[in-house]
Amino acid sequence: MTEEIKPIRDIRDVPPVGKTSDDLVNGIQRHYLRTFGQHKPNNSIHYKYKAFATTIRDRLMECWINTKEAHEELDKKRAYYLSLEFLMGRTLGNAVLNLGLDEQATEALHKLGLDLEEIIEEESDAGLGNGGLGRLAACFVDSCATLQLPVVGYGIRYEYGMFRQQIVDGNQVEEPDHWLRNGNIWEIERPEHTQAVQFGGHTESFLDKNGVRHSRWVDTQDVLAVPFDTPIPGYKNGTVNTLRLWKSAATDEFNLGEFNAGSYPESVAAKNEAEHISMVLYPNDASENGKELRLRQQYFLASASIKDVLRQWTEVHGSDFSAFAEQNCFQLNDTHPTVSVAELMRILMDDYRLQWDEAWNITKNTMAYTNHTLLPEALERWPVYLFDRLLPRLLEIIFEINARFLSEVANRWPGDLERMKRMSIIEEGPVKQVRMAYLALVGSFSVNGVAQLHSDLLVKGLFSEFYAMWPEKFNNKTNGVTQRRWMAWCNKPMSKLISDTIGESWVTNLSELRKLAPYADDAGFREQWAACKRENKERLADVVEAECGVRFNPDAMFDIQVKRIHEYKRQLLNILHVIHLYDRIKRGDTENWTPRNVLIGGKAAPGYYMAKQIIKLTNNVAEVVNNDPDVGDKLKVIFFPNYRVSAMELIAPAADLSEQISTAGKEASGTGNMKFMMNGALTIGTLDGANIEIREEVGDENFFLFGLTAEEVEAVRGSYDPNAIIKADSDFSHVMELLECGHFSQFEPGLFASIIGAIRSPNDPWLVAADFRSYVDAQQQVADAFKDQQRWQKMSILNTAYSGKFSTDRTMEDYNRDIWKLTPVPPKCV
Ligand SMILES: *Cc1c(COP(=O)(O)O)cnc(C)c1O
Repeated sequence: MTEEIKPIRDIRDVPPVGKTSDDLVNGIQRHYLRTFGQHKPNNSIHYKYKAFATTIRDRLMECWINTKEAHEELDKKRAYYLSLEFLMGRTLGNAVLNLGLDEQATEALHKLGLDLEEIIEEESDAGLGNGGLGRLAACFVDSCATLQLPVVGYGIRYEYGMFRQQIVDGNQVEEPDHWLRNGNIWEIERPEHTQAVQFGGHTESFLDKNGVRHSRWVDTQDVLAVPFDTPIPGYKNGTVNTLRLWKSAATDEFNLGEFNAGSYPESVAAKNEAEHISMVLYPNDASENGKELRLRQQYFLASASIKDVLRQWTEVHGSDFSAFAEQNCFQLNDTHPTVSVAELMRILMDDYRLQWDEAWNITKNTMAYTNHTLLPEALERWPVYLFDRLLPRLLEIIFEINARFLSEVANRWPGDLERMKRMSIIEEGPVKQVRMAYLALVGSFSVNGVAQLHSDLLVKGLFSEFYAMWPEKFNNKTNGVTQRRWMAWCNKPMSKLISDTIGESWVTNLSELRKLAPYADDAGFREQWAACKRENKERLADVVEAECGVRFNPDAMFDIQVKRIHEYKRQLLNILHVIHLYDRIKRGDTENWTPRNVLIGGKAAPGYYMAKQIIKLTNNVAEVVNNDPDVGDKLKVIFFPNYRVSAMELIAPAADLSEQISTAGKEASGTGNMKFMMNGALTIGTLDGANIEIREEVGDENFFLFGLTAEEVEAVRGSYDPNAIIKADSDFSHVMELLECGHFSQFEPGLFASIIGAIRSPNDPWLVAADFRSYVDAQQQVADAFKDQQRWQKMSILNTAYSGKFSTDRTMEDYNRDIWKLTPVPPKCV
């Protein structure tokens, strides 16, 4: 008897999974029983979530394999997005949406007596990022998959993501976020692609058999990097790209001495150190922390990812790197993965024996760097001694890169020693430091800022001398957000209204939203638009009531500021305005009042004292305002705890007013501003970051502008006198009196002294007092505009209609056209 042998790997022999609601029902039941061993219904949602998520994952698998095969077979150029952060949020809803299974999934779950919304809530957020920078990476990979660009995201699989924020007595309390505790349906471990990463040891120089000198890095302690892959589905296009996250693991090499001495448990336990590398995300946003473990994380990501790319290259091309730079591009998300520049040099020279010039040509034509901030406290510097101890061979290479770079500077500006000092990758001083941004500038062919103003300020300020040397390297790539998550998924009522009105093409071509503009003049459409917003506001009001015990009136204005808590973002200015409104109510100045619900949310870095004080002040002001019977529904204030991606999915659709009030010149771009605009909120904002471009797109009549410009901010500093400003403004004086008499700290006298001191300081870098009057006046215009609901709804519709530029689809097309130059690759046909 002969039987046909079917190779196990050929998926084309496996019957495809169907996509009807009955197919999904079968899948859910099968996984519930056979994958998770549940045989009767129970009250726990856990296995129902898992069975459903696995059923959806089944529908991604073939596309994932087909996409991978297409990328490998075509041997076309690929790009790699290297980022220490990917703030993904939840995956299930996005997968359902992008697979086009929305209706079938709802129906299937309904047949099983389950509710999609409830199941979605069971998934933990993948909070592997701090804020904008990490969320940007997540939106980028979504858009790359939708555009069918062969881009792989590389990051770290932190065991603990961004901490969970609890509010206790008005203060932030951090709790560990063990997001993997209940397992992660979406990741697949790929042990066969494990890489070893070296640390410590020392370097040796030696002559090869041809008498050529080389270096090697020896006596290192190695750590394994084990990849876990997450599927990134494109929107209804059959493409599923990959996010590859590295987990650290100990090698199996034992300390034989201890082992033989009978200390087996001790020698196994000692391996923990290696496993710590991917244990926890550093919770600092826009500030460096200088911890050794953080440098280990950075090199761990850089080394594992570059080795992974070189593994794939050498499998096809052997050790011929002549076309490597033409076919590969690494995009560095801020300076965090910048040690990649030295790591690629090291591997090309030490492992593949390329000469310096050849390796350098490849490296500097392969790396591209994105800068995310102008704040000096965020610029990464690592002490040379730390580099020397942890990564001695990398330090040698950085010194050599610097020496060759400085000789270029000397050629260009002979004798200008001061310039050489300023531009050197190594900062002199009591503790010598490696300036990571300069390493990135020297080692990359492209350097970009993330909004036009930010890119302009970079070449005028921070990087001006590098710009003088290589103007062709510098470019702007204005950020965006993905409209799949930030509109189609999170705002179902408006998405439906939009699609019913202008069709569905906006989901992959956001400029199509322009077609909504004429409907702003259609009273019937405005009414439907307002009804959608109202539904979203009720949904948020219910959650706010459950979380904070405060009832928001859904007819009142929803005035929202959610983002990391940072002095430059000026949540303090917002609170001063709230106190001003409270003061007006107490004075009886409430003619033509516009009722407001003010919502402030965001996490403070655990070591950032002022940011934590701002949270406490918000909560104390809220306590007073919300419990004063004179205030009633005229004003409600809450601090929304544990702001995260899934919270923003609820908040953005419900916003009337988006607060984007940073000190001009400090917010590189902002992306929260774009999510709000897309969802029909109006912006009150400074001329900062992408606010400028938002205002350009929507028109100044649909945007509430206030405050000093970036230029004025710098001009004012020398003569800034906040005490005179307060004195001359009776509203401001009242606000300060309330703060200073302890009205919001009755049981905690002196609690807000540091905040008061900051506002009154002539050296306040954020110039809070300078913009108070102009902010309060703009808020009055907002209040007046909201009274005229016809006008407001019109402006709201136009904000959505003109948000087309702020899709990451546009951003990715810009990166691709100017930097990556990839050809879209459709998945391999089955
Ligand atoms: C969009 C987003 C951010 C960035 O907000 P900004 O206002 O641009 O600072 C931060 N955190 C989360 C969870 C987000 O979704």
